Amino acid sequence: MKRVMVATWDFGSKAVERGLSVLESGGSALDAVEEGIKVVEDDLEVLTVGLGGLPNFKGEVELDASIMDGETLRCGAVGALKHIRHPISVARKVMELTPHILLVGEGALEFALKCGFKQEFFWKPNAREKWLEMLEKIKREALGECSFYGKILKVMRDSWRETVSVIALDANGSMAAGNSTTGLFMKMPGRVGDSAIIGAGIYVDNRVGGAVTTGVGEIAINYCLSKRVCDLMSIGLNPQKACEKAILETLDRENFANGIAVLALNNKSEVGAATSLKEFTYAYQDEEMDRPELRKIKGILT
Ligand code: ASP
Repeated sequence: MKRVMVATWDFGSKAVERGLSVLESGGSALDAVEEGIKVVEDDLEVLTVGLGGLPNFKGEVELDASIMDGETLRCGAVGALKHIRHPISVARKVMELTPHILLVGEGALEFALKCGFKQEFFWKPNAREKWLEMLEKIKREALGECSFYGKILKVMRDSWRETVSVIALDANGSMAAGNSTTGLFMKMPGRVGDSAIIGAGIYVDNRVGGAVTTGVGEIAINYCLSKRVCDLMSIGLNPQKACEKAILETLDRENFANGIAVLALNNKSEVGAATSLKEFTYAYQDEEMDRPELRKIKGILT
């Protein structure tokens, strides 16, 4: 089987490059996903992933992440986790060490500390400034009604949203998927997005393939988007057709008109992607390539 890594957005190229080197040195698909995501979590220029990035409305960074093993379907996730540099690694510990799938907030932090992760406090460059700027904008444009979240959402409609979501296929045909994010910029405190929800932001099954999402997480949760794409692949659609069909389905209703992207890789190394955003970029690398390739796609309605 040809080893393949795919990941969302331009910064996904760092994740796929690292992940592929893990696969090539004998690491598992799970290792490749975790190590690839850690590179992006550590990247000071990526404000939408990792500790110190873009915060919630109250100025606190609450992180979501999840990981899934396509061989066993075991999975682990954390939601609204604060002060931990590598939420993806905590998600993996939830999968490996607990009988649960999702830990959130205080409980997730307590678990992380028990596992030996350090509690840290720092901002990535410009993250705090961007939060303060956005607060000002909300005060101006939402007429001071900051307590009414609907108004806030209007102001921030086009603001930052970019999760690193990764799928790996190893030489034995084993697959894994994972993701990590600060979540929607200026989200309500306590809001957990698709990245922590198995079946919404992430799903993978060796017998078929995997799918991951990025964008407005509420859409992916509403439509169980990753699982939907895997189900479509399991009845014979190739990843491209499965992604397109699933994205078109999200446009059937008006409540979430646009704003989500899905990326899929099946167990035959075929890739697909579709989006209702204006455009979406993902990184692809297989073992025959020296470096990752960035692939840009247009929104399904453009
Ligand atoms: N899907 C993420 C969320 O809603 C955001 C993103 O992809 O940037 O939390």
